[in-house]
Amino acid sequence: MSTRLLDRHSRVVEYLRVSVTDRCNMRCAYCSPSPAVAYRMCDILRYEDLLRLLGIFASMGVRKVRLTGGEPLIRSGIIGFIHQVSAIPGIEKIALTTNGVKLEQMAPKLKRAGVSGVNISLDTLKRDKFISITGRDGLASTLAGIESALSAGIGSVKINMVVMRGVNDDEVVRFALRFRDRRIQVRFLEFMPATPEVWDESMFVPMSDVKSRIEKLGRLVECEKAQWGGPAKIYRLEGFRSEIGFISPVSRHFCGECNRLRLTSAGILLTCLFAGSSADLGGIIRSGGTDVELEEAILEALNDKNAVRNMSRKNMAPGALFPMSRVGG
Ligand code: SAM
Repeated sequence: MSTRLLDRHSRVVEYLRVSVTDRCNMRCAYCSPSPAVAYRMCDILRYEDLLRLLGIFASMGVRKVRLTGGEPLIRSGIIGFIHQVSAIPGIEKIALTTNGVKLEQMAPKLKRAGVSGVNISLDTLKRDKFISITGRDGLASTLAGIESALSAGIGSVKINMVVMRGVNDDEVVRFALRFRDRRIQVRFLEFMPATPEVWDESMFVPMSDVKSRIEKLGRLVECEKAQWGGPAKIYRLEGFRSEIGFISPVSRHFCGECNRLRLTSAGILLTCLFAGSSADLGGIIRSGGTDVELEEAILEALNDKNAVRNMSRKNMAPGALFPMSRVGG
């Protein structure tokens, strides 16, 4: 069967984000709820089940897969799993979102396994602040991980900084300058109203503010969108090797271009981070469901994918179905 993943709003889904674990080696205050709510390991999809699902998604038109978490690099066997994902017909790109702590040692293996893009989450360049945000003394490891990804030859290396007022918004310019001579895209993201336990509206900084701060460094020249470019607006500051990206999911939604689905580590398929439809693919697998039943559940969820996510700048009530630590960013 090769049913294209076309939704009712004429959007074609080609991109699947897969959370391979809800566990993390960091405890970012704005992201992770208390450890007590972590899934039991038996609820996490086995690699063989994930490979089965990815084969089905690929046959339905998914061409890009992003592995996320929790922290994807702490799940044992991840490298072997990625090798197997690379072998699935139709999958053209495998990317990873990571906090970078384990990347120094793993980047060459990830490259060999078929990873062609890594997004590394980094919210501060100050060691003390890094500890206070993440609960871990890991800044040096993350920075070493970034260098390792570059030297391993991973094609696309991006740094994602979630800008939060009173937490790290004073470091926006420092981030742009720090990586100016590197083959890196530094991306600034708006803090999103995920779940109530982590949302604080007073920390929200609109991307227009961030952009004005960066513009003080020089003229921003807009770059052409790369294949799989996503929703970021990408620029280069004159004289810089690095690129700068601005992502504004709150102040300027990009639902019209949405080409993605998300799979939680327990196998719940989400059509949107914010109150979209869902399907319990893990449940179907655990109860012995067939590939056809899985395809039908995927298509049914897709059919209900909302045109615009249920969150606006005016109504910033937390609206995510699951904490980001479970769905993956
Ligand atoms: N452990 C991996 C990492 O650190 O990149 C992957 C999972 S983590 C949930 C993915 C991303 O979600 C991180 O970049 C994190 O900053 C982002 N994130 C978490 N909560 C967020 C929120 N409320 N708004 C915006 N980004 C958020």
